[in-house]
Amino acid sequence: MSAVPVFLYHSVTSDPPPWIAPYTVTPRAFTEQLDRIADAGLTIIPLRRLVAAIRGGPALPARCAVLTFDDGFADFYWSVAPLLTERALPATVFITTGAVHPPGGAPEGSLLPPAAMLSWRQIATLDALGIEIGGHTVTHPQLDALPAQRVWHEVVDCKRRLEDALNHAVYAFAYPHGYSSNAVRRTVREAGWTSACAVRNALATADRDPMRIPRLMVRADTRPELFTQWVRGGGAPVNPAGESFRTTGWRLYRRTRALLGRPVGGPSESGTLSRESG
Ligand SMILES: [Zn+2]
Repeated sequence: MSAVPVFLYHSVTSDPPPWIAPYTVTPRAFTEQLDRIADAGLTIIPLRRLVAAIRGGPALPARCAVLTFDDGFADFYWSVAPLLTERALPATVFITTGAVHPPGGAPEGSLLPPAAMLSWRQIATLDALGIEIGGHTVTHPQLDALPAQRVWHEVVDCKRRLEDALNHAVYAFAYPHGYSSNAVRRTVREAGWTSACAVRNALATADRDPMRIPRLMVRADTRPELFTQWVRGGGAPVNPAGESFRTTGWRLYRRTRALLGRPVGGPSESGTLSRESG
């Protein structure tokens, strides 16, 4: 089967806070990208359809793509949802539950710097519109640098909070910063999540691990030519199997820094992500 681009967006706005600006696309660029996908004849399918195919379910259309949005920025509600509903396109939004508006209030809160985030009411409305709501932890930590018990809390409490708010089960998870490890993936599975998205800047296929679905991050500086290549099934590796030495070495460094109380990598999906591409 052909490779499936699973696109990862963050904020879609013309006026982002500086910390997320490099990972933000304007509504105009986003609309052009939707047009490019349509012009290339790709069908945008729900993430759960790709997951079902990975699990041996119905085959996918010959050429398709998936749209995902991380963190839960409020601009999804105002800028993205109208475009998607107008075109009847599916998407998944991964919510950092501790960052949901209004912020604060123990025991929640998140490591994400201030930004306009979705409210629980908006999240419920998106759910009712058919947008899939997924989980992205409570506080947005680097899960692979955390002790096992805190990983469990992050993935279980996030799921519970979303299910309480929506009155139904949720199944799709995404690792903050794209970071996971064998132990993290096992914990996410044990918590009841049935799929998990990484970053890895690669195309997906339907014959690999549903707990490690690679995605292509669309950034402010993503050139239209590269986006077109992705849409055509090129411009990136297809589902790389293992982790490079550089990735595992970088994780060891981050874990050591975290143990010393000096975490690296900042709270956002920062530039460190490029190191996870291997
Ligand atoms: Zn994130």
